[in-house]
Amino acid sequence: MSHLPLHVLVIEDEQQIRRFLRTSLADHGYALLEASTGHDGITQAAQLQPDCVILDLGLPDMDGLEVLRQIRSWSSVPVVVLTARGQEQEKIALLDAGADDYLTKPFGVGELMSRMRVVMRRTAGAAAGEQPVITVGDLRVDLARRQVFRGDEEVHLTPIEYRLLAMLVKNAGRVVTQRQLLQEVWGPEYTDAPHYLRVYMQHLRHKLEVDPTRPRYLLTEPGVGYRLRDEG
Ligand code: CA
Repeated sequence: MSHLPLHVLVIEDEQQIRRFLRTSLADHGYALLEASTGHDGITQAAQLQPDCVILDLGLPDMDGLEVLRQIRSWSSVPVVVLTARGQEQEKIALLDAGADDYLTKPFGVGELMSRMRVVMRRTAGAAAGEQPVITVGDLRVDLARRQVFRGDEEVHLTPIEYRLLAMLVKNAGRVVTQRQLLQEVWGPEYTDAPHYLRVYMQHLRHKLEVDPTRPRYLLTEPGVGYRLRDEG
């Protein structure tokens, strides 16, 4: 059971960011718990069982990846990673190790709230049972029947195209890394073959997007992976 207000633990040594989060989250009805080191963050995550964790990659005492691994060893709490530009590889490693999403500094309140909503919906959804039908704009995916519609028209996908779309749909609103997609759709031996992904993503966009060169649903996260736009 969640305790209200929802508690968000931020593990971040920069006071300015913590202050920004404290104000923004309070405005939206969340309570903030604060840790300025990795060790303190792990301790608080264990003792206080927050509803969401915001984890900075650049901590004074520990590697962000190690902090995530320790938290993940006992908890499936949603984790959003804070990164600076130029931390692509670390960011991807954290997503592959089970972080739910990331925010690149500087970020705004709107972006923060959207990420939090999506990652916390994942845990709520997992508890309540998966949603069989997902609608984004005029795109509708019925995971139970394995059917895809654009407006009223059914779209026929190949098995690989469908698996790729289904993985993004199950993670709607969240980034999914290239490695996660390759592993899920093609298998572990294909994780170093991103060109498969590019080719099939192109096929999907041609079938699902009004203008495949300016996708509205299947968004690219440069260097990281792909994200299915959240509803709206
Ligand atoms: Ca930092």
